[in-house]
Amino acid sequence: MNIAIDGPAGAGKSTIAKIVAKKLEYIYVDTGAMYRTMALACYRNGIKAQEQEKVEEMCKKVKVTLGYVDGNQRVYLDGQDVSEEIRQEVIGNMTSAIAVYQPVREILTALQKKMAAENDVVMDGRDIGTAVLPNAEVKVYLTASARTRAERRYKELTEKNIECDIDEIEKDIEDRDYRDSHREISPLKQADDAVLVDSSNMTIDEVVDKIISLVK
Ligand code: C5P
Repeated sequence: MNIAIDGPAGAGKSTIAKIVAKKLEYIYVDTGAMYRTMALACYRNGIKAQEQEKVEEMCKKVKVTLGYVDGNQRVYLDGQDVSEEIRQEVIGNMTSAIAVYQPVREILTALQKKMAAENDVVMDGRDIGTAVLPNAEVKVYLTASARTRAERRYKELTEKNIECDIDEIEKDIEDRDYRDSHREISPLKQADDAVLVDSSNMTIDEVVDKIISLVK
């Protein structure tokens, strides 16, 4: 059984997917974390996102793996746990710029398909229902308005005492959405057979219940 959840940045995919996976006792696969890890490898080595050849070379060289500790996904770069480091804003923005390169996508898509073939998964990302798991039994396109998504991110950061500006966050979100949905390979878009869920005015529990009811 495979559940695909796609949608733009900050729509709440990972929060929702994690809960759904726990309830159903499936494995949660956060594919964004895998792309972020590739971006981190480039960032650490001083490679800029525009340096396509160098990015591709680096991504072919490094090993991205997923593991589970107490049921929570951890992501490893050449064996080192980088689950926290990849969450920096600078990495998030760089990720959408390197995610446009085909070889990068091919490496990660193959890994994701393998995980889904071997396990019951809830997988979230941008191209899961369209490219990675076109035969997923349940597909959800989870979205929310850009302002709502910016407000959620703002709240998350201020709770961690990180200073930030809500308008800047909204602009970053819009830029990332634009890059993700306008790239040539596997752009972010709703699969024809995906159910659209707009979480702008929904609680987390409501979204989770909606997905569980689709699965049932
Ligand atoms: O989901 P998250 O915000 O962590 O993803 C970071 C970036 O990784 C996205 O903005 C997108 O560019 C890229 N990504 C992708 N395909 C996926 C998952 C993430 O291109 N399946």
